[in-house]
Amino acid sequence: MTSKSYAIPKFDHNNSTPLTIEQYHDLYQASINEPDNFWDIQGQRLDWTKPYTKVKDTRFNKGDVKIDWYADGELNVCTNCVDRHLPDHADQSAIIWEADSPGHSKHINYQELHDEICKLANGLKSLGVKKGDRVVIYMPMVPEAAYAMLACARLGAIHSVIFAGFSPHAIADRIIDCEAKVVITSDISKRGGKSLPLKANVDEALARDDVTTIEKTIVFNHDDTEMPLLDGQIWWHKLTENCDTNCPAEPMNAEDPLFILYTSGSTGQPKGLVHTTGGYLVYASLTHQMIFDYKPGEVYWCAADVGWVTGHTYIVYGPLANRATTVMFEGIPTYPDERRIGQIIDNHNVNILYTAPTAIRALMAKGDLAAKDSHRDSLRLLGSVGEPINPEAWQWYYEVVGKSRCPIVDTWWQTETGGAMITPLASSTKLKPGSATFPFFGVQPALVDAEGNELEGENEGNLIIKDSWPGQARTIHGDHKRFEETYFSAYENVYFTGDGCKRDADGYYWITGRVDDVLNVSGHRLGTAEIESSLVAHEKVAEAAVVGYPHDIKGQGIYVYITPISGTEVTEELTKSVRDWVRHDLSPIATPDMIQWTNGLPKTRSGKIMRRILRKIAADDFAQLGDTSTLADPSVVDSIIENRLNR
Ligand code: ATP
Ligand code: MG
Repeated sequence: MTSKSYAIPKFDHNNSTPLTIEQYHDLYQASINEPDNFWDIQGQRLDWTKPYTKVKDTRFNKGDVKIDWYADGELNVCTNCVDRHLPDHADQSAIIWEADSPGHSKHINYQELHDEICKLANGLKSLGVKKGDRVVIYMPMVPEAAYAMLACARLGAIHSVIFAGFSPHAIADRIIDCEAKVVITSDISKRGGKSLPLKANVDEALARDDVTTIEKTIVFNHDDTEMPLLDGQIWWHKLTENCDTNCPAEPMNAEDPLFILYTSGSTGQPKGLVHTTGGYLVYASLTHQMIFDYKPGEVYWCAADVGWVTGHTYIVYGPLANRATTVMFEGIPTYPDERRIGQIIDNHNVNILYTAPTAIRALMAKGDLAAKDSHRDSLRLLGSVGEPINPEAWQWYYEVVGKSRCPIVDTWWQTETGGAMITPLASSTKLKPGSATFPFFGVQPALVDAEGNELEGENEGNLIIKDSWPGQARTIHGDHKRFEETYFSAYENVYFTGDGCKRDADGYYWITGRVDDVLNVSGHRLGTAEIESSLVAHEKVAEAAVVGYPHDIKGQGIYVYITPISGTEVTEELTKSVRDWVRHDLSPIATPDMIQWTNGLPKTRSGKIMRRILRKIAADDFAQLGDTSTLADPSVVDSIIENRLNR
């Protein structure tokens, strides 16, 4: 082992460990120079039933990719998230659940969490679920969704959570792909005052001839209405009513799969990424502690959905491994209106709020309503994830929601990465609005040109990661070849993220959008994020999406889709003022050629803009839009096609 230049501390969830920026840089360097040593020490934050003797065994060679972390160790994720907190903190709130309808909430302490998980785990066992079986979870944002995930983890069953907004068709495809044995669902879900028929969607999926693997469906009774069950279906409360509140936890190998999760599908067919046990939990818990500088006793709210990786890592696994109090919110930030977020913060004394730019822009479009009727004095930190956050939205989030008191951690990562990769640390990093700042410990980002040459210093290129980190996905379920093709074939011996990125003179990283979305206008590379940020900074623009279209002279022209701030009258003057705005704000090269106003943008169910579809419409190629199963509201697309601009 190389000589130690810096004493690497063992971070521990029982203590908050703020770092200075100098300490961050030293420790970062140590994590890169001595990865085995660094991750050996951090691995000890978990309880292992069999200690590991080897830390890292990884290589990124296409055809022979190997990603093993702590490979001979054994542990159980559920006991690490729950049981180990019981001796001293059984009464502490583990989950604060806030219902869709205002005024309804409840606290679940660590003891109750343990008991509920064990009852369900015993129920699953009685249905024959065992280590390695796949269980699909299609649930509303209720604590039972977390119980279901953790009950699977306790037994060593592999869960695959499907976001509750997905259609029967999408459920069926995912069940077939992961060959699930059991589905856990709910009679209904509630979101924004509307009720969605979850069980009916599952019924429809299971009725398909090609869905053949499901043996049992467990139905949680969320509503009081009676509902007949079909053959092979059982109510959650019936299944668990006589079950014991203790259930032995299965010792799992560190490299046994914990879950399969399908990506948002922004760029095409969703991929079922497989995450494993030991490295994932080390990475989830360490990033949660360090990025948010989480202190025991604080109330932490990640307003994502458990159907996405953000919900897995930063609502359930990271926070619970760290004995946090984690808020689960069933509804949406704009229901009954934009004041809801602030009211939840006040009601539960939330200290940390972590949400997505799409939610921030939705609140911002309603002026300062989000700040009305709440003081939000408990807040000390804000976070953002999912898309580049436009500096305008960043500023609004900072000033209006955080009252210019709370730093914003803009965390860049992917379903594939398991946890945040490029991110500020709350305690130390000096922020720049719109930048995800610096790499997390052990993460080695680099920028490369199209040929794979590494670009040094202040530069822009494709974002790659040079070496493995413990939270990395190990494969695509059932298609390892696609895994290697997608991530390890563009460039040799590195992980390709698919995102474009800039590094400034101070070494800060700025994600410019997906590489496929980058435009080439008259020989100039323009990131969609940059043009969209400029557009959003215009006082009448709520949200914008930018795509390229074939242009005889420039190569690519700039086609812009804009939603106006509510109450705006769209006129030709306004369109002209937007065009002039970008010309002056950014550059004449970035001046939009086409501006189409619209009431909505096509988004994935997780709220990301699907530029792939907009690109096709702009190119008059909308007969075949490709996979649209992950689209949140298909009617938006029809209206955009109908009102497309003639070129
Ligand atoms: P698919 O891979 O199926 O196309 P997806 O990439 O949208 O779907 P996710 O894994 O949910 O699925 O999203 C990861 C992507 O989201 C990143 O690659 C990046 O493009 C974007 N992203 C996430 N966080 C940030 C951030 N803080 N800043 C900029 N972009 C971000
Ligand atoms: Mg992706």
